Amino acid sequence: MKFAFMIERTLVILKPSALQRGLVGEVTHRFERKGLRLAGMKMMQLTDHLLDEHYAHLINKPFFQRVKDSMMAAPVIACCIEGVDAVQTVRTLAGPTNGRLAAPGTIRGDYSMSVQENIIHTSDSPENAAVELTRFFKPEEMFAYKQVAFDYLYATDEY
Ligand code: UDP
Ligand code: MG
Repeated sequence: MKFAFMIERTLVILKPSALQRGLVGEVTHRFERKGLRLAGMKMMQLTDHLLDEHYAHLINKPFFQRVKDSMMAAPVIACCIEGVDAVQTVRTLAGPTNGRLAAPGTIRGDYSMSVQENIIHTSDSPENAAVELTRFFKPEEMFAYKQVAFDYLYATDEY
């Protein structure tokens, strides 16, 4: 039986809090160890204009500018991460928005004491992931290659 899972790509942003606290290796290590494939990675300085688009769903919140300022306080590392059902898998690894409520074992649960300073951004749906990846990466900045372990990561009916 074929499952309804698909190989997906999702956007992860290692936020300024991750860089300033020296957690870049820790966090990327978790995605690698899970079996997700790193398809793209780049350091960048976010701008107010880009964040107006990226956080458009928060535009009417009182903390909108504060969140944007926090995302511009230092460079970030944008990652394109791929795997079967990657959008939900990465959300699960990240944990809920509030680091204080996130379960131990999740990235936010292990490394964050905050709602705002919660280490990573992760796309929340396949549709938004596609839009966000286009916003952050040029096509040639995302790479297709076969993981050598691929045949040991999935059954043949899972992709
Ligand atoms: N945020 C915040 N206060 C809130 C809600 C969100 O500071 O009450 C920040 C937080 O950094 C969060 C980001 O805005 O990660 C985007 O919010 P969203 O609701 O999309 O949460 P996420 O998808 O990152 O869990
Ligand atoms: Mg979100």
